[in-house]
Amino acid sequence: MEKMDMLYEGKAKKVYRTQDPSLYIIEYKDDATAFNALKKGTIAGKGVVNNNMTCIIFKMLEDNGIPTHLVNMIDDNHQLVKAVEIVPLEVIVRNIAAGSMSKNLGIEEGMPLKNTVLEFCYKNDELADPLINDTHALALGLATQEEIDVIKKYALKINELLQEFFLKSNLKLIDFKLEFGRCDGKIILADEISPDTCRLWDVNTNRKMDKDRFRRDLGDVEETYQEVLSRISK
Ligand code: UDP
Repeated sequence: MEKMDMLYEGKAKKVYRTQDPSLYIIEYKDDATAFNALKKGTIAGKGVVNNNMTCIIFKMLEDNGIPTHLVNMIDDNHQLVKAVEIVPLEVIVRNIAAGSMSKNLGIEEGMPLKNTVLEFCYKNDELADPLINDTHALALGLATQEEIDVIKKYALKINELLQEFFLKSNLKLIDFKLEFGRCDGKIILADEISPDTCRLWDVNTNRKMDKDRFRRDLGDVEETYQEVLSRISK
C-alpha cells in the first residue's frame, strides 16, 4: 500500500489516502505542541517512538477484545489504518489527579481519586477543546447515546488493560486521552496512545515520563520518550 494525496495534517500526524478507499496511512511527526498550540517545538525521534508504542499497545488491546483502527505498522513512522470518521470527542480517563483537573478543581497533582474519572471534551481547536458532558454531546449531535455507551465501556476496559500493561514497565498510568472513530457503523479506537497522550510516572520515583517534560520544560524530553518505548518493548 502506498501513500497518495494527503487528506489531513494535524499537530503530530499526517493522514494520507491509499489506493484502497477503506485504508489510510498515518505518518507520525516529531512536531510537538502544547497549550492549544501556543507552545510549539520538535522532539527528535518522537514520531518513531509514538508510532511504535501505539502499534504495540493497539495490538495488545485488540488481543483483549478492543476493536482498533490499526491494520499494521509499515515502517518506523508510518502505520496502515482503517479509514474512520472521527467522533469529535476527546475521551479523558483519570486515575490520579493531574493537569487540568488539578488546576480547575484546586487539588494537588498526585492525589489518588476515589474512582476512575471519565471526561469528554469537544474536539474543536478554535474553542480549545472545552469540557462537556454526555447531554452536551447528545444535544450537539456529536454522538448517539448508543455510541456514548460503547465509548464509555471501551474507555474503562482500556484503562484496566493499560494500567496493568504499564505497571509491568514500572510506570504508573495517571491519565490519558482516547479518540474513537466510526467504521462500518461500529465504534473503534483510533488516534494514538503514547507519551503525548498519557501521563506516566515512574513507580519508584514519580518522575514524569511523558509530554509534561516538554510542556513544563523539565528537560531530557527525547531521552524520556526513548526510555518509555524501551521499557514497554521488553
Ligand atoms: N491530552 C491529550 N490531548 C489533549 C488534551 C489532553 O492527549 O488535547 C491528554 C494529556 O496528555 C493527559 C490527559 O489527556 O494525559 C489529561 O489532560 P489534561 O486535561 O490534564 O490536559 P492538560 O491541560 O494538562 O494538557
